[in-house]
Order: sequence, then structure tokens, then C-alpha cells
Amino acid sequence: MSDFTNNELDNYDLLIVGAGIFGLTFAQKAARDGKKVLIIDKRNHIGGNAYSEFDKQTGIEVHKYGAHLFHTSDDAVWEYVNQFSKFTNYVHRVYTTYKNEVFPMPINLGTINQFFRASYTPDEARGVIKKQAQELANKQPTNLDEQGISLIGRSLYEAFIKNYTAKQWQTDPKLLDPSIIRRLPVRYNYDNRYFNDKYEGLPEEGYAKLFENMVREKSIDIKLSTDFFDENFVFSKKNTVGKMPIVYTGPIDKYFNYKYGQLGWRTLDFEKSIENTGDYQGIGAMNYADLDQPFTRILEFRHFHPERNYPSDKTVIVKEFSRFAEKDDEPYYPVNTPQDADNYAKYQQNAKAEPGVIFGGRLGEYKYFDMHQVFAQALQAYKNFANQL
Ligand code: FAD
Ligand code: UDP
Repeated sequence: MSDFTNNELDNYDLLIVGAGIFGLTFAQKAARDGKKVLIIDKRNHIGGNAYSEFDKQTGIEVHKYGAHLFHTSDDAVWEYVNQFSKFTNYVHRVYTTYKNEVFPMPINLGTINQFFRASYTPDEARGVIKKQAQELANKQPTNLDEQGISLIGRSLYEAFIKNYTAKQWQTDPKLLDPSIIRRLPVRYNYDNRYFNDKYEGLPEEGYAKLFENMVREKSIDIKLSTDFFDENFVFSKKNTVGKMPIVYTGPIDKYFNYKYGQLGWRTLDFEKSIENTGDYQGIGAMNYADLDQPFTRILEFRHFHPERNYPSDKTVIVKEFSRFAEKDDEPYYPVNTPQDADNYAKYQQNAKAEPGVIFGGRLGEYKYFDMHQVFAQALQAYKNFANQL
């Protein structure tokens, strides 16, 4: 039995499906403009995949759906998020283990010199990589494999990217979009920051608090553990589409009942453990480049908040295993093979024709977006649609 009755549809100006960053941002803006908003989420918390919670035994903040590092060069987004939380000055750094040796990531002069047992200057290293990348003869890369080789040459690509990507995507790199790998900078200096952005940091009191602060307006109601496709629910798809404005941030293929087939997604399995040491690996994220470890990386969450008073004898680590998502798995990364792209284009055409429904976010747009991009898109979407609410 639902606790809403039918005439409650009229109580809201807007229904938001999904309490992730897209949904919360849109809701916050609409509520500020005096709209009455209902947010539903099938999970039992807000924040979507960026949600975090404090581990009961150690008090260490654990990002429940994988490490979430906030970074942006967008002034408007930075200003927007800072309304809801202060940010620490955490700077993300990653190392990768390859054949029992630890290298800095992303690939920088330190990685190149360690790998080639050399002491190249920046110009020499550029020359070496350029020579290695010549096999592509200035061809415009059309897939991840070509993009990887043209960025760093075959030997570095095969050591640090090829097998990691095979574990992460289990898709022939020739079928993967080159943009996946363009996310990673390649630097001919010793700067080993993972991101290039102007702003970087983590919410001082944790992600959950940031999200709670976004939806403090009285005109926002939130209903958790509620599925939009559950027809017994008054605010289900069946009962609401065409009757009120809707922001839908779930998977687009699911919305249309997979009528053009299932879009390819990757999901992750997280293996969490508490280790009896104050420091397990010396860094927040250690990638594993070889195929003999089945996981892609190990996260050690204490390192994301060195300013906090965490226990000195215990630490939380999480191993990440990646695999294809089946229908009931959490869809995390859009695979986006050419076939997926064709099917998505069809779903997108259908989405345009759907009365009063805005599709947004990583799942709604079937795109590999970072948090700051989703904040920016939701702010823009709100600007575009505010006058229709
Ligand atoms: P989501 O967070 O997925 O929210 C969608 C919500 O909709 C979910 O809560 C879901 O439960 C709900 N929903 C779906 N279907 C229904 C339904 N039928 N009924 C009701 N509710 C429904 N970004 C970064 O900037 N930095 C990082 O370091 C980073 N790391 C990441 C690591 C991993 C493992 C993953 C998966 C993502 C990472 N991201 C990172 C990306 C980041 O998670 C996303 O950009 C952002 O959370 C997307 O927000 P969203 O609102 O689009 O979607
Ligand atoms: N990647 C890799 N080796 C690494 C790190 C990344 O091959 O050590 C590739 C891999 O294909 C991955 C992509 O670069 O999917 C983007 O990496 P990023 O760390 O941005 O991925 P995410 O944190 O979103 O999983």
C-alpha cells in the first residue's frame, strides 16, 4: 500500500526520479524558486553513487559505490557546491603496481623514466614517446587502443593501460571509445596529480552531509526505497507521465522497457575489509595493471582525509572488481560500443517525444560523466526548463 493518494499528484510541481547529483541539484534549484518537489529513489539513501557512510567499526568515511574524488575547473560548479559544504584541500594521487613494481599514475616523467630505466629530460621523453607512437602514422585515433598507443606509445600502453582496461571493461579496446583514455593526463614533468583541474577537494563533513544540505528546503519531500516502475505507487511512471513534469535520472533503456535491447553497462563488486594496521598501502588508490590480480584497484579510505583523527591501528580497504552488469546489477559505467551508441540514439529519439520528461545524469544520458559535469548539466537543464515548471 502506498502512503500517497491519487489527488496528491496535484501537491507537487515536479517529480524527480533519482536522488543522485542530477536529481538533487535540479530539486534544489526548483525548490529555491518556490516549487514543491517530490524526489524518489529506489535506494534507502540520497546522493546516488556519490553517497558515503562512516564505517561503524573504525569511523572511517567509506564511499559506498567506489572512490569519489571531487574536482572541477568550472567556477559556477565550485561556487554552487561550496554553498552546501566546505571542501578540504585533498589532492588525489594514484600509484599503480606493474610486475611487482610501483609506478606513479597518471603517466608522467617519473613513470616514463622508471619504466625505461632512464633519466630523460622532458624533451627527450617527448621524443621517445613520439617515436613509439609513429606506428599510427598520425592517424586520428578512432578507438581506445589507437588512442592509447598514440598518446604514450605501445610499450607504456601495454604495461599500464591494456590489461587494466581489459579488467575494467572486458571489451575489445578497439570497440571502446577513445574518450575513456583521454580522461587521463600524460605529463612530461614530475607532476603526479591525478586531475588537472583548478579546484579539488572532498566535502569536509563527508558526502552524505553535503547532499543533506542540498535538500533542506521545506518544499522538498523525499521518498526513499521507492521504485518509479512499481505500478502500485501513486508516483509511478504509469501514473505520472504526461500528468506532471518529471526529471528521470535512472537508466534510459529501463525507462523504455529495453525495447531496443539492453545498453551495455559495467558494474563493480566491492570487497571491503578492515585491516589491523594504521596504513595498508600508503596511498588512497593503488591500481593493479597486471591480469594476475583480478581486481582493478585497492582503495584505502583513510588517506582521503589525512586531517581526520582516524584510528592508528585499523584501516578500511576496498578491492574493486569490474564485470558486465546484468539486469539487476547497479549500472556504473556505460560501455558504449558502436552498437550501444546506435541503440542509445533510438532511445534518445523516444526520450525527446516523452511528454514533460527530462532525462538527465549518467544513467539518463548513458554517458561517462564525472560529478562536476553532472552538477553543471543539472544547473543548465534547470535553466532550460525552469519556465516550463
Ligand atoms: P546516480 O548517482 O547514479 O543517481 C541516480 C539515482 O537514480 C540513483 O540513486 C538510483 O538509485 C536512482 N534510480 C534509478 N532508477 C530508479 C528508479 N526506477 N526509481 C527510483 N530511483 C531510481 N565522479 C567524479 O567526479 N569523481 C570520481 O572520483 C568518481 N568516481 C566514480 C567511481 C565510480 C565507481 C562510479 C560508478 C562513478 C564515479 N564518478 C566519479 C561519477 C559519479 O558517480 C557520477 O557522475 C554521479 O554520481 C552521477 O550522478 P547522477 O545523478 O547522474 O546518477
Ligand atoms: N586506466 C588504465 N590504467 C590505469 C588507470 C586508468 O588503463 O591505471 C584507463 C582505464 O581504461 C579506465 C580509464 O583509463 O577506465 C579512465 O580511468 P579513471 O581512473 O578516470 O577511471 P574511473 O576512476 O572513472 O574508474
